[in-house]
Amino acid sequence: MNNNMNMDKTYNPKDIENKIYEEWEKSGAFIAKIDKNKKPFTIVMPPPNITGQLHMGHAMDSLLQDAPIRYHRMKGDPTLWLPGTDHASIATEVKIVEKLALDGVTKEDIGREEFLKKAWEWKEEYGGIINSQQRKLGVSCDWSRERFTMDEGCSKAVTEVFVNLYNKGLIYKGDRMINWCPVCKTALSDAEVEYEEQNSNLWYIKYPSEDGIDGIIVATTRPETMLGDTGVAVNPNDSRYKKFIGKNVILPLMNRPIPVVADDYVDMDFGTGAVKMTPAHDPNDFEIAQRHNLEILRINNDDGSMNENAGEYKGLSAIECRKKVVEDLKKLGLLVKIEDHNHNVGTCYRCSTTV
Ligand SMILES: [Zn+2]
Repeated sequence: MNNNMNMDKTYNPKDIENKIYEEWEKSGAFIAKIDKNKKPFTIVMPPPNITGQLHMGHAMDSLLQDAPIRYHRMKGDPTLWLPGTDHASIATEVKIVEKLALDGVTKEDIGREEFLKKAWEWKEEYGGIINSQQRKLGVSCDWSRERFTMDEGCSKAVTEVFVNLYNKGLIYKGDRMINWCPVCKTALSDAEVEYEEQNSNLWYIKYPSEDGIDGIIVATTRPETMLGDTGVAVNPNDSRYKKFIGKNVILPLMNRPIPVVADDYVDMDFGTGAVKMTPAHDPNDFEIAQRHNLEILRINNDDGSMNENAGEYKGLSAIECRKKVVEDLKKLGLLVKIEDHNHNVGTCYRCSTTV
């Protein structure tokens, strides 16, 4: 080394590293060789999402896997580091939709087949970038066995697992409350919902008793949801409401009789102590509805607009519907009062729309 007087003063990775990596790969140094007499050492790479390029976190993660893989390979163990990429479908879909929007096109405009084509193009582009980034990092994974989570083998394996679970009775389908984003048109896990405090109101609405003489006042932060109400819940120890339990009240605007049920869950000190039950659109109401066999009535379409169960409010957006419901209740003399009220509203972490 000391004899080479022409050596550059600084190390230039560009001149060296690509060449070395190419040689490693060409020689088949990373290809796993099965030896049934020896204990194998294997790592399945947590596949990076094809939503974009790799970042420093991936570099760190790759290093942690590469070091033990190289150690075991050099010890002579049959060693496999299985590389791959993850489709991350919802996040990737958002990216593709954003890209289409730059050309003024929506996914509905181009249709499913064309959209899938765009998705595979995206995968080729970003999957390719990720692979070249990993090669730059020097990762010694077995590229001959590379997988993608949507490739035929993985898709078949997923189907098989789900069918097996279903056949064993371990998974089933049923109506449950989910977080739904009306813009992304997808369910969101609890971890994907971000809560933000919004200045809003508490609307007090009177639900008349069947004889029209009396009635129960409920308080709500979302008056438009009353169209989907299938009951009113009160605390069994609340003396104000004892006489209503087991009877019906009339749901205003829809003129539907709905039962008054007693449930310990109801907080006597919040609002009026009587809670309107919208089991299809509130998780707590859903739980109470299960206990009292209340009907679960969905009033929103997938895009958040009101559906046919909303009667004459069908087709309105939730915001428009709220305005009209409040106006109509005022006209009927059933809007008792409006209070200022701050509350936490769940929003989609991808697009910030109210879920
Ligand atoms: Zn969204």
